[in-house]
Amino acid sequence: ELILAFESSCDETSVAVIEDGYKILSNIVATQINSHKRFGGVVPEVASRHHIEQITLCLEDALCEAGVDYKDLSAVAVTYGPGLVGALLVGVAAAKVVAFTHGLPLIPVNHMAGHIYAARFVEPIVFPALALLVSGGHTELVYMAETNSYEIIGETRDDAAGEAYDKVGRVLGINYPAGKEIDRLAHLGKDNFNFPRAMVDEDNFDFSFSGLKSSFINTVHHADQIGKKLDHKDLAASFQQSVVDVLAQKTVRALRKYPVKQLILAGGVAANKGLRERIENEIEQFDDTSLLMAPLQLCGDNAAMIGAAGYVAWKAGIKADMSLNAEPSLEFAWLD
Ligand code: ATP
Ligand code: MG
Ligand code: FE
Repeated sequence: ELILAFESSCDETSVAVIEDGYKILSNIVATQINSHKRFGGVVPEVASRHHIEQITLCLEDALCEAGVDYKDLSAVAVTYGPGLVGALLVGVAAAKVVAFTHGLPLIPVNHMAGHIYAARFVEPIVFPALALLVSGGHTELVYMAETNSYEIIGETRDDAAGEAYDKVGRVLGINYPAGKEIDRLAHLGKDNFNFPRAMVDEDNFDFSFSGLKSSFINTVHHADQIGKKLDHKDLAASFQQSVVDVLAQKTVRALRKYPVKQLILAGGVAANKGLRERIENEIEQFDDTSLLMAPLQLCGDNAAMIGAAGYVAWKAGIKADMSLNAEPSLEFAWLD
């Protein structure tokens, strides 16, 4: 069974063809990073325009590379939120056109469920599961009692982890998105700045990264003012150690309260080597919990993950009609 999937929530236009929910026949990703990096972040209007230019090209490439035709498809999946409204609308409109024209079911997919399902390309998800979702706009712990059930148990109160990476990267003169380069530098330096680890001792599953970000920026600015040069490798290592400590400690706390069969690490920041190593170590203490990490190349935004999440939604009978609209602030519900 073939699913055609669309993703356009932020700055990647992507179209994929997925077989049986876990085989990638094609996954075309047109990134706009070069257009946004001179602004230091994603410019919504620029993003929408690029999506419009790219979406049909990506669609044609995805079908061609997969070697399939519209008549071979079983359903069309699309990210309808969360994200930039103008960007989301492009994917939603494209998916509706294909679904309507070819009489296919239209499956609405939450972008964050998509990030979780990037892990499905490694092996099947086993329930109950817990996902540590770390990306450019989100940092949350999501409990999944069963397929298609996503409930938040904790989230960031301010900045997302990826956002913090990108903002501290900016003061070091690193191009957006800075996560990958800071990760590289971090492995060459030492944690000798001892930046704050917010909320680690609080009995909840929430995060906060704005204090860490401010502390980092103040440290760099203060050194600039007195003409002192700080080692960027040590700054990166210290920042990363603080982020990883908080993410790992909160995840361990969550696993103690919610014993699950599987911990899933997903989202753009899940590509972080320091985080992957740390979570691999922490999971050892949980005999009944296995670790499932999204593949490195599928941590960032892509349509393959939307196809995988769309497949299980479709199997459960979840579908939308032609009134489907973009929902920029779409969120999972909180666990009671
Ligand atoms: P969201 O998924 O919350 O809507 P988004 O789609 O913009 O946001 P993603 O594409 O999932 O975010 O992730 C992009 C983020 O991942 C950026 O902030 C980027 O800096 C960060 N990132 C990418 N690679 C790494 C890495 N190796 N270490 C840390 N951060 C990374
Ligand atoms: Mg992106
Ligand atoms: Fe994303």
